Amino acid sequence: MRKTFLTFGKPDIGKKEIAEVVGTLKSGWLSTGPKVGKFENDFKNYVGSKYAVGLNSCTAGLHLALLVTGIVKDDEVITSPMTFGSTANVIIHSGAKPIFVDVDIKTMNIDTSLIKKKITKRTKAIIPVHMAGRPCDMEAINKIAREYGLYVIDDAAHAVGAKYKGRMIGNCGDLTCFSFYATKNITTGEGGMVTTNNGKWADAMKILSLHGLSRHAWQRYGKKGKNRYDLIMPGYKYNMMDIQASIGIHQLRKLEDFLKRREEIWKRYDNVFIDLPLKIPSPIEYGNKHARHLYTILLNIERLKVNRDVFAQMLNDENIGTGIHFISLHLHRYYAKIYGYKPGDFPNAFYISERTLSLPLTSGLTNEDVTDVIKAVKKVIDKTIKK
Ligand SMILES: *Cc1c(COP(=O)(O)O)cnc(C)c1O
Repeated sequence: MRKTFLTFGKPDIGKKEIAEVVGTLKSGWLSTGPKVGKFENDFKNYVGSKYAVGLNSCTAGLHLALLVTGIVKDDEVITSPMTFGSTANVIIHSGAKPIFVDVDIKTMNIDTSLIKKKITKRTKAIIPVHMAGRPCDMEAINKIAREYGLYVIDDAAHAVGAKYKGRMIGNCGDLTCFSFYATKNITTGEGGMVTTNNGKWADAMKILSLHGLSRHAWQRYGKKGKNRYDLIMPGYKYNMMDIQASIGIHQLRKLEDFLKRREEIWKRYDNVFIDLPLKIPSPIEYGNKHARHLYTILLNIERLKVNRDVFAQMLNDENIGTGIHFISLHLHRYYAKIYGYKPGDFPNAFYISERTLSLPLTSGLTNEDVTDVIKAVKKVIDKTIKK
């Protein structure tokens, strides 16, 4: 058995990030400033969008995206229930109602053939979630959006580095929200970015992210700054700091290498797990690039003596940390109670919720770490398989 605990989703931080943070700490300017400006610029060049707005989280990005597209009380926003809570929570914060559409089991992404049935006069936007880093069918989603006059706001928290038919995620929908939370493909500790080709939205998000002030503080306190500012609207406190951007600038430069390493590990897992009583992630759709954020297996629980939670605990006892992505939102207490959902309302999301398990997959894993994960999974299967 492995001697030390293998943490799930451990960040891969190097000397350059540390040096840049120290430089920022010594510079005398810690909050939103030139480093955020640089990170935004690098990021928009990377995804090929016209604008990028740095924020303190992806959740903040999703919220602001809904606000700048004019989502208001009693509007409806379509999304997948197979996601993290914030995707739907922000719809509620904007005053609108989340409308779930079930996922496809193979891709775990929104089933685009079911979207039209859920569109009403009040529907204003679709939030596709690129689950685990696998791009959604953006052609189908954009076509529906154009037909019904809806905005497309991508939840790309898992999908930095992904491509849909040769086009970067970040330049496929109207607004795309990325996360740099500690476990994501690249991290700033906490942080997020929204990309768009619409300058008015980008400006509005900048202003809303810092209280609704006409000018950011570093533009006021810098040499050429004017101290006087105007409060244009009651905004939020969603800005990214230069300390965060200092980490992000270097993480972004390493992203392609991170993705290569993730792909190597992914292939090793695929080669071994294909023979076990579980479902490995489906092959990548032709012409797309998967961001390899999560290696998510579906346990064949009908053939096991234990459920997924016990299985995960047994891996934990073998010193292997795992994640669960996700328990469908319609099964959570709040959503079940307020909207009256039953488990069978979204059968595929329910099916995945009971079987899904994400194994360690980060660029920092050594080959021995990967071997340990493989051994532990085989051992737990051996112990739990019905004979
Ligand atoms: C992590 C995550 C978010 C939230 O990102 P934060 O930066 O932590 O706000 C949103 N959606 C999905 C699918 C996520 O996994």
